[in-house]
Amino acid sequence: MGSNLKTAPQEKILRACYEALFYAWGPQHWWPARTRFEVIVGAYLTQNTSWTNVEHVLRRLRGAGLLSVAGIRRTALPELESLIRSAGYFRQKAQRLKTFVAFLDEHYGGSVNRMFAQTTEKLRVELLALNGVGPETADSILLYTGNHPVFVVDAYTRRILERHGIVTANARYEEIRWLLEHALSNFEHALSNEVPTPPATPRLTNAMVKINPIHRPSLMSTSRRSNLVQIYNEMHGLIVGVGKHYCLKSHPRCDECPLQRFLPKPS
Ligand code: SF4
Repeated sequence: MGSNLKTAPQEKILRACYEALFYAWGPQHWWPARTRFEVIVGAYLTQNTSWTNVEHVLRRLRGAGLLSVAGIRRTALPELESLIRSAGYFRQKAQRLKTFVAFLDEHYGGSVNRMFAQTTEKLRVELLALNGVGPETADSILLYTGNHPVFVVDAYTRRILERHGIVTANARYEEIRWLLEHALSNFEHALSNEVPTPPATPRLTNAMVKINPIHRPSLMSTSRRSNLVQIYNEMHGLIVGVGKHYCLKSHPRCDECPLQRFLPKPS
């Protein structure tokens, strides 16, 4: 990625977008889960499917007493496939969950906490080497389960940044991640304790009326974490809100979007 001089204007816009969204909508409460392992399972299951389908599968696994490392370990592959069928690509995903648990057993004695005690860089490389773990899944696991300071770049992030002229259509995942991380870490440094504390009553705007918080507070969404991790967490959740409600693939609803004022001026 380029130097500070080259990216400073984009970073300024990104910080302004964060402020506008956060003060309009407040905390988004990602990731909705009761345990760290549940976040990991959710990160695998959500690939190429809607969150509603994932929630259904998570309820099934929980109801069967299998939403744990031990639960996935002891469940035979065909049974696991059947349990997660409604998440789509169930054979692939069941095998990938088994692979993850085997990795955890082999390298960390089956302990999620021991795994997350690794440095961000080392663990990211290890996760990316696992079958079915791309950058978005690896970074979701690192950020939302392990409270490691990495930004999760998803399709909404790319679409919004492209439409605002902040990145080009061929920007690589790592470039976008670097840009967001750099922009928001400067923000954290500049505002220290002010940012992560949500306003008691988020500022109401027209946009606020049209979006509900994506998730209710959960044990994982309210767990202790650093300011920087909290900001990365919120920014990703806010971007998902924009992507789902305004920045639609074919017909963006710019007129109603809280980010409209950050669109580049027509030349
Ligand atoms: S819908 Fe919102 S985020 Fe998407 S291009 Fe329009 S103003 Fe930007």
